[in-house]
Amino acid sequence: MKENYLGVDVSPLNYDELINALYNRLEEQQNSFIVAINPEKIMKAQQDTALRNLLNRADFQIPDGIGVILASRLKGGRIKSRVTGIDMMMRISEESVKRQKSVFLFGAKPGVAEEAKAGLERLYPGIQIAGTLNGYEKDPEVIKQTINDAKPDILFVAMGSPAQEYFIVDHMQELYPHIFQGVGGSFDVLSG
Ligand code: UDP
Repeated sequence: MKENYLGVDVSPLNYDELINALYNRLEEQQNSFIVAINPEKIMKAQQDTALRNLLNRADFQIPDGIGVILASRLKGGRIKSRVTGIDMMMRISEESVKRQKSVFLFGAKPGVAEEAKAGLERLYPGIQIAGTLNGYEKDPEVIKQTINDAKPDILFVAMGSPAQEYFIVDHMQELYPHIFQGVGGSFDVLSG
């Protein structure tokens, strides 16, 4: 059961539970959209109904941000520790090697996704990175074709929030992957 803070849903699942749920859904070809929740987003969603609806449309709202953990503790909720966007991306990547699933990196400045790919390949030998595309490509047809031609199972979108989340909800139905996560500045971090 999800918890709810000021109208925004948050998943109480920990990393292992999330990985299991995501990969089980992938086996059943069911889409999963993951969004990281922090107090800043919850506060923005108070005035912005479209943003609140967007956050609540995700399948898994992960509790990134200590404020969410504190709120859960105060309410006697189940959320005990943070699940950060970048750690979630790392765990999904690690599991993709075991399950032989492929990943696509979409976002950040030209060249950065390729460097992030090299970073992930060093961290997780055997990872299948089906392709990359910079986040300044804005033509929806080019984006769709580039991603779908690569046939990835998992799509990480690093365009900043909430642009990356709007991109995911607007396009996930027509895209090949089944796991979608908005990862903010993570490609910049991974590119070292
Ligand atoms: N970005 C992009 N396309 C855009 C605007 C931004 O790919 O049209 C990228 C930018 O290069 C950076 C990331 O989005 O890599 C945003 O990172 P930031 O840390 O600002 O995101 P946050 O985690 O704060 O949402």
